[in-house]
Amino acid sequence: MVTPHSFFDLVETFPSSGCAICNLVKRDVNRYLNFVLYERVTKPDTQETFRAARGLCDQHGWQLPDYKGGVLGVAILYRACIAEVLQIIEESPASPDRGGIVRRLATNTDTQATALANQLDPVEPCPACALLQEREDEYQEIMAKYIAETRMEEGFRNSDGLCLRHFQGVLRQIKDGRERELLVSIQVGHFEALKDELEQFINQHDYRHLDEEMAGERDSWLRAIARLGGEKGVFGLRRGDRRRK
Ligand SMILES: [Zn+2]
Ligand SMILES: [Zn+2]
Repeated sequence: MVTPHSFFDLVETFPSSGCAICNLVKRDVNRYLNFVLYERVTKPDTQETFRAARGLCDQHGWQLPDYKGGVLGVAILYRACIAEVLQIIEESPASPDRGGIVRRLATNTDTQATALANQLDPVEPCPACALLQEREDEYQEIMAKYIAETRMEEGFRNSDGLCLRHFQGVLRQIKDGRERELLVSIQVGHFEALKDELEQFINQHDYRHLDEEMAGERDSWLRAIARLGGEKGVFGLRRGDRRRK
């Protein structure tokens, strides 16, 4: 059986700071956005996806300005999205006459206005969020499958641990009791170490310890934010949105 790429991705990412799965899905989303901006903006299927999603979610949309030289691509894609929104408004039954849109809406019923508001909802999730979820499922599955493999186990043990969400995701995938225990015991070790550091950090702020030098616990509060909510800038705000599907 061939060992999947994701196995090596995980093993190679564990030594970096933070949750390995967060770091990997962030990398994959970056690659996707890069690919879309530089190679796909004029492709009809890409434009269709963006139109259906009404553009990217807040989180992922605001990552676009980081792609230097991608400005034109953003303009082309978003022109399609705005055109979609305008088309929905124009074609809405809430447009009974040829007067200006503001006048037409003003004369419409509550039901028609609500219908139009609903039609403007995205019919597809943010494509970056969708990719993220797909990749996340894969990493969780692979980590669960290979947790007892030495490189996976050791890598995880020597890492910063998973964020809460990804720990839950991997835990749900493991079917073997002993392997489940292994995952939980390693993650508990990571959480306990972080809790100790927070304890030290808090104690250092006691006036009796003010002259003591801080060590690794200096950024423990930041790592606690990441370990519970996920690494910075990973999750989109319309993540997993399956409305109207
Ligand atoms: Zn994570
Ligand atoms: Zn998103």
